[in-house]
Amino acid sequence: MDNLVILKLGGSVITHKERSPPEINRKSIIRICEELLISDTPLILVLGGGAHGHQPAKKYGFANLSTPRKKRLDGIPEIRYSMNLLASAIQAALSEHQVPCIIIPPIAITKLRNGYIETIYLSSFRSALKAGITVITHGDVCFDAELGAAILSGDALSVHLARELGAKSVLLGTDVDGVLDDNPNRNPDAKLIPTIKASEDNPVLNVTGPSKSIDVTGGMKRKLKELFTLADDNTEIIIFNLNAPGRLRRILLGEPTIGTRIVT
Ligand code: ADP
Repeated sequence: MDNLVILKLGGSVITHKERSPPEINRKSIIRICEELLISDTPLILVLGGGAHGHQPAKKYGFANLSTPRKKRLDGIPEIRYSMNLLASAIQAALSEHQVPCIIIPPIAITKLRNGYIETIYLSSFRSALKAGITVITHGDVCFDAELGAAILSGDALSVHLARELGAKSVLLGTDVDGVLDDNPNRNPDAKLIPTIKASEDNPVLNVTGPSKSIDVTGGMKRKLKELFTLADDNTEIIIFNLNAPGRLRRILLGEPTIGTRIVT
């Protein structure tokens, strides 16, 4: 699909990641939906789990590969319920602006093996986009052939969808200006890197780390590793600060904005 945009809404922006029990950041969601309105291209919104995903996922041991199968399977209902609440909040905000949208929950269409995607059935995505419907999907807990259940991160899902559906742009909105030259949790003076070459031995992987809050999906380092597998000459890949009002809108309009571009 030539003009498909995949926009990941970082969990750190659409939820209050530090608050327990999980809380939706409604103010942020309303602003993001307003900025989105200028987009007239097919759009998939991929929600990060934020507080709604990471808190129950941690409770059921998903951060640890040795957690027994039974405990992981027991966690499915609670994580799913929590992610449904988050996805519904986004759908409600978009519907207020008469944007036709549906939620496609990954657990219903995904097979994982050892935490990696084996199959995702995408026909509903294709049909919805063709019908002019915006798709909301999200990081999720999914059944896993080896582990019983595992977490499919919003970042891994975004990259998979971009590859399989042929996206024009993959935009990862998060709570920092982009990729910084040091982990901002250790070094508050870290500087933005505007462009990064996709390569597995790029030293930037040594200065990126996990999120500062509960993180079962690997923070900036894992994001970059996923994105490096996608980079080619045809796909625009940008990591940007979704907390900074106006940046999403500028990117969607093709205007220059602060952020990090991943290039080949
Ligand atoms: P989201 O929930 O928005 O998907 P994550 O919390 O998973 O985002 O990842 C972004 C976080 O990664 C940042 O808030 C920051 O704490 C952390 N991080 C670690 N190293 C870096 C780095 N070098 N540059 C930018 N962010 C980094």
